[in-house]
Amino acid sequence: MVDLHSQYLTMKEEIDGAIQQVIDESSFIKGSAVKNFAVSFAEYNKVKNVVTCGNGTDALQIALMALDLKKGDEVIIPAHTYVATAEAIALLGLTPVLVDVDLDTFNIDVEQIEEKITNATKAIVPVHLYGQCANMENLLKIAQEHNLKIIEDTAQALGATYTFSNGKKSKAGTMGYIGTTSFFPTKNLGCFGDGGALLVNDEILSEKINMIANHGQRVKYHHDLIGCNSRLDTIHAAVLNVKLAYLDEAIAKRQKAAMVYTNGLKELEGIEIPQNTPFSTHSYHQYTLKINNRERDIVKSELLKKGIPSMIYYPVPIHLQKGYQQYGYKKGDFPIAERLAEIVLSIPIYPDIPVDQQIYIIDSLTEIMKKTNT
Ligand SMILES: *Cc1c(COP(=O)(O)O)cnc(C)c1O
Repeated sequence: MVDLHSQYLTMKEEIDGAIQQVIDESSFIKGSAVKNFAVSFAEYNKVKNVVTCGNGTDALQIALMALDLKKGDEVIIPAHTYVATAEAIALLGLTPVLVDVDLDTFNIDVEQIEEKITNATKAIVPVHLYGQCANMENLLKIAQEHNLKIIEDTAQALGATYTFSNGKKSKAGTMGYIGTTSFFPTKNLGCFGDGGALLVNDEILSEKINMIANHGQRVKYHHDLIGCNSRLDTIHAAVLNVKLAYLDEAIAKRQKAAMVYTNGLKELEGIEIPQNTPFSTHSYHQYTLKINNRERDIVKSELLKKGIPSMIYYPVPIHLQKGYQQYGYKKGDFPIAERLAEIVLSIPIYPDIPVDQQIYIIDSLTEIMKKTNT
């Protein structure tokens, strides 16, 4: 799906040098690269503060911990997302409240949120799925009206830009109370292992989040809060410092690759290409098709026969996962999420994907769709 090695080779000297420097300094935890990265990453996103942490799931958990919620408080999330979004909520004894998604954008259906709000609702976690922002303008209105906090799960949409109706532009992850993201190797900005971060505009909140991620301490061995241990290793920060400089270029290349697919696949019967919203750019973390002729699994295996990998993000919606049955949902509760689980198919996309490979994928899909349509 992704060629991480060729991406490394394009910046090998810089990355090797940065890693060697960490080894030479042997300051593997909280070395200078961590601080440097937090500063540059904040600048990139035009946000006041960045707190780095161990991974994107931790980032969600830490964000929720910073809200001082109590057991049973409800947090609204989309029904079609990666499990981490629900997991962080469940782990803290909070209740994930699911809302169905929009068939065209794959993101939370904002129209369906208000009917799910109760006295126990404290937060909404929109997920900017596949690389495109949820409808933040309407989400922020709802949050303000009902006094809810928004935590943006930006693990897939780092670098996407949102435009409000008044023309104001913001980076994904900087519009809500807290933004969280992941530097998992295949994400838009990936390190060489696990990594994550929180984006925060409020100084006091940022200080608190820093403490939570560091055993609840500001001063060593004085634990003012119950925290956790979640750190971005210096080696990963050093890699990220190099890669951050190429992030916009990488996203532009993803967009160009997406255009190649879109031009090649838009007329194809039985398939629907991803749609763009008027308010968000698309960073194409994934290029996700809908196989509307309902032969998705056959299409997937036929692609594989031709040597083409594809992925289903995600085959089982949260409410039908075994581990999440305690929340009392059943089949039929979220028809769009259930439908998407049956028809979505993501095809390979990464910044330097060769055009001839994309053409091979387009030609193969054209041939397979003709067969499955008849
Ligand atoms: C990857 C991802 C996460 C979790 O990030 P990790 O670094 O793997 O813990 C959370 N939410 C979404 C939507 C993701 O895609």
